[in-house]
This record gives sequence, C-alpha cells and structure tokens, in this order.
Amino acid sequence: MAAEREKMFECEVRRRRVKASGGYEPYWKVKNVAVALVDEDTDFRCKDCSGAVKLLGRNGKAGTVPYVEHKLVADAEFCPSGLAFKKATDGREPRPSAHPVE
Ligand SMILES: [Zn+2]
Repeated sequence: MAAEREKMFECEVRRRRVKASGGYEPYWKVKNVAVALVDEDTDFRCKDCSGAVKLLGRNGKAGTVPYVEHKLVADAEFCPSGLAFKKATDGREPRPSAHPVE
C-alpha cells in the first residue's frame, strides 16, 4: 500500500494586474492546478495557509491529474487543507503558514 498522499487540486497562483496609479501589482488568485499549468503559471502557494507547495503529478501520463502538496510539514499540520491537519485528533485550530509565500 502506498502511503496516503496529500493532494490539493486547487492552489493560488501569482498574477499581475494593472494598478490604478500605474504599473503592475501582484495578487493571488485561486485556481485549479491543472488549469494553472495550462496557463503556464509559475508561482504557486496553498490557498488556505499561503504556505509553499510542491507541484506533483504533472508527468503527463494518462489519468494523472496534477496537484500540489505542502512543502513544509508544519504547514500541513495546521492548514485546513493539510492531510496531517485533517488526521489530527487533538481538536487543533488551523492557522496560516509561519512562512507564507508573499
Ligand atoms: Zn496550506
């Protein structure tokens, strides 16, 4: 049996928009991971805790759906989308990443 993986099929991607005062400003947008890849987004983070994520499952094999998982175990343990958080039985409260991707 393979170990259960944390799979999040939605993430936030960094986009740019035109500022009213001129120039651009970055902002984060929630997106489906597969769609983000098609759109060639390159900056990802967790949509719930803003923590760093790894992009996985993008090898293009039939039936493979790309997804992200937390890079930091500490994020997964306190993120509402984290596998470790969901499995915790101590009634812990979710909290944002201590090392958010800005
Ligand atoms: Zn998270």
